[in-house]
Amino acid sequence: MGELRVAIVGFGKIARDQHVPAIAATPGITLAAVASRNASLPGLPHFATIEQLLHDGPDIDAVALCTPPQVRRQQAVAALKAGKHVMLEKPPGAGVTELDPLIALAAEQRRTLFATWHSRYAPAVEPARAWLAERRITKVQINWKEDVRVWHPGQTWIWEPGGLGVFDPGINALSILTRILPRQVFVTAAELSFPSNRAAPIAADLTLTDTSGLTIAAAFDFRQTGPQSWDIIVDTEEEQLVLSRGGARLVAGETLVEAPDEEYPGLYRRFVELAASGASDVDLLPLRLVADSFLLGSRRIVEPFED
Ligand code: NAP
Repeated sequence: MGELRVAIVGFGKIARDQHVPAIAATPGITLAAVASRNASLPGLPHFATIEQLLHDGPDIDAVALCTPPQVRRQQAVAALKAGKHVMLEKPPGAGVTELDPLIALAAEQRRTLFATWHSRYAPAVEPARAWLAERRITKVQINWKEDVRVWHPGQTWIWEPGGLGVFDPGINALSILTRILPRQVFVTAAELSFPSNRAAPIAADLTLTDTSGLTIAAAFDFRQTGPQSWDIIVDTEEEQLVLSRGGARLVAGETLVEAPDEEYPGLYRRFVELAASGASDVDLLPLRLVADSFLLGSRRIVEPFED
């Protein structure tokens, strides 16, 4: 099989910080073009839109959609119809049901649709899953608190409908939670804090459980200054497990994992593997948990947020 030639669509923060170096580090895939209205990469063919890329661009096999969620569905449809494999940044959609026709289209076109959850590829996630599989879990607490001004400066889309607000990082915690726990989890209550001038929440407190009645609490906050927390703390009948730094560190009595970030190379290895057979990988559970948080959530209006 030849190299998979991929184009990045939407050349913003994540494309620059993670996709470009991860593609360069992954055997079997080459970056062939960029489609972005305002950004390009020296030495690579550049197009303002995905339509121009697909019409006038070089031969490509795949696209990595790194645009905000509100515009990704239409881009994915255009790419799949043109016979390209599609990698979707998280969250996979602005809504949940829009994914159904996309999944069907990918199957019809025999092309890969890969809904990525980068946090699941953090080095301590699989070890945490294996460790928990052998123990009785008694309680879970998620603390996912970061400074939106540091991590999402000027990203207006995050505050618009479909942009998810604090669930944009929070969904990463839910993607890990749903991977490491042995039983299906669901939301039972939520309290969402909306700035009076924004359409998306700046903070959220969730109560979840699973089919065994486990108590799971999640605190998401975009107003965290000082130390940032991306932690999942799981109490078991024996020791406590602490998965911290977004899944890069695992401590249970002793440090079991402490490893550098390798999430995006892992995603691209998986994409190359999927594209070889045209298989898809779309798990909507983290997005469904967010949708349920909005369905069940009570709302508080808090002070306006200015960037
Ligand atoms: P970003 O910096 O705002 O980049 C997105 C890019 O998409 C923009 O630079 C823009 O490029 C293009 N774009 C914006 N609005 C568009 C529109 N209406 N139509 C077409 N193109 C548009 O955002 P990001 O942080 O890279 O995030 C993108 C996605 O990656 C999000 O879903 C986010 O959740 C996910 N992600 C982000 C991070 C992170 O740390 N930042 C981490 C993991 C995943 P042009 O103006 O050049 O078109």
